[in-house]
Amino acid sequence: METALPGQKTALVVSAHAADFVWRCGGAIALHRRLGYDVTVACLSFGERGESAKLWKQQGMTLERVKADRRREAEAAARVLDVHDIRFFDLGDYPLDFGAETRDRMVDLIRAVQPTFMMSHSLWDPYNTDHMNTTRFVLECRMIAQAWGHNPGQKVLGAPQLYLFEPHQTEQMGWKPDVFLDITEVWDKKRAAIECMEGQEHLWHFYTNVAENRANHFQRNSGGQAGGRAAKYAEAFQSMFPRTVDEL
Ligand SMILES: [Zn+2]
Repeated sequence: METALPGQKTALVVSAHAADFVWRCGGAIALHRRLGYDVTVACLSFGERGESAKLWKQQGMTLERVKADRRREAEAAARVLDVHDIRFFDLGDYPLDFGAETRDRMVDLIRAVQPTFMMSHSLWDPYNTDHMNTTRFVLECRMIAQAWGHNPGQKVLGAPQLYLFEPHQTEQMGWKPDVFLDITEVWDKKRAAIECMEGQEHLWHFYTNVAENRANHFQRNSGGQAGGRAAKYAEAFQSMFPRTVDEL
């Protein structure tokens, strides 16, 4: 795999299941694409067992058909969001099955992408251990990608921020947003990507509502009653690492 060109702005999103990146950071993907970033998405599984209930209710459904359907949906959503590259690791879900070989694949991908920033799930998710295990896995791979002694000669990773995207029930996950991103100008793309997820129609309204609420928080935190900047749709993230700044 080709290593990103010097100076190219890039991002890497790691999604436990095929649809997660759409609900949680579809706006960030489309927006950064528009800002000139090459955004790569890695789906560790298709969510074939745990997040495809509607498909399993159809008669005669098989695991292979569910996987193929979910892959088609994720690829369609990625096209709508203008994703640069989407990778399917096909690890199986509920539970995800990590291993040394998968770790090497992910480290290679991180080093090739050389992300300006990364995104993944909340650190804690008692409802869905696939999500939190993905983030632990991402942190581990990020660390290995930074090690000069791992595959010497490859370009070593710097220190990209890892943004944790919004879980389904934020209060239960110990997740607390510290970044609000205005996605109003790409909302139509996010909504279109959401609608590619035909197997999870019950979530379409839910995540539209989340984006509207986060837009309210965006405005309150950008000036409040003293003239906060309005946003109609936003996404929220928790940053894993401190920021280094020259001015507050
Ligand atoms: Zn998921």
